Amino acid sequence: MSETTRRVAIYPGSFDPITNGHEDIVRRGLRFVDRIIVAVAHRATQAKHGLFTVEERVQMIREVFADEPRVEVKEFGGLLVEFARSQGAPLIIRGLRAVSDFEYEFQMALMNRQLWPEVETLFLAPDVQYSFLSASLVREIASLGGDVSDLVAPPVLARLNEKYASVRRGT
Ligand code: ADP
Repeated sequence: MSETTRRVAIYPGSFDPITNGHEDIVRRGLRFVDRIIVAVAHRATQAKHGLFTVEERVQMIREVFADEPRVEVKEFGGLLVEFARSQGAPLIIRGLRAVSDFEYEFQMALMNRQLWPEVETLFLAPDVQYSFLSASLVREIASLGGDVSDLVAPPVLARLNEKYASVRRGT
């Protein structure tokens, strides 16, 4: 297949940090496209910085997909459609966990289409065991010393332990 006929999709998010739910969506997506660019958003408009820096998030995602050459990880700022266009990827993948995700996701998909008529959004449902999982829940449980080993991959678990150990030491 030539480069121009390959299907490339963008999977955008904050990934602070990547969870097993995100990983599940990417691996499902790879059954339908040739390559997925996991795009970690910098949010200039975000009042509060996340737990991990964008560089740390990118690094963890690379470690999670070390076995998968069809996954690339990049960071982006500004409009998602502009980034997607610059990558030649008119397909956006998003995960839908529950009805509560739907309204926002639907609105974003239609707004992105308004901004770039060729772009399409593909919604995928995760395995049911991840349908309750969010990065914010992982951060909260880990910060309170709870076990998140079933919710994130080993490289992410190691970073979470490191991060919260240094928070507890006050460094
Ligand atoms: P989160 O909501 O966990 O902070 P992001 O903002 O990074 O995640 O979301 C990136 C994308 O991944 C969104 O489409 C979001 O709905 C999806 N997503 C996040 N967690 C899951 C999950 N457990 N299962 C399926 N999709 C998910």
